[in-house]
Amino acid sequence: MATPKPRALRILGDSPELASWAESLPDAFLDCRNFGHAWYSADVRFDSEQRLYLTLLRCRRCTADRTRRTNEFGGIEGNAYSLPDGYLAPSGMGTVDRSAIRHLADMRHIMAPRKGRRADG
Ligand SMILES: [Zn+2]
Repeated sequence: MATPKPRALRILGDSPELASWAESLPDAFLDCRNFGHAWYSADVRFDSEQRLYLTLLRCRRCTADRTRRTNEFGGIEGNAYSLPDGYLAPSGMGTVDRSAIRHLADMRHIMAPRKGRRADG
């Protein structure tokens, strides 16, 4: 019996390359795209020239880096991101609809339960 095609891939059916890329995303990338990154503070330093605190945050799942710049009053001046290779769709391929990502992630969890997934009962 054929496995039904996840709705996410039907949504992306107009772009087979994009659908194929989305389907091949590692679990960590898919989880971060679905739930957002799982940041932890890896380092903080004070840039005396800019008079800004630079907080290096790293994602526990996908290893993305974020540098948050805050002023001396704690106000956020900006963020810079460095994403791991393969996190974003290749240039020119377009973008994946977020509902498609959510559905693809849900289907992957249902089809292949992983450790860490809460057991029923
Ligand atoms: Zn992440």
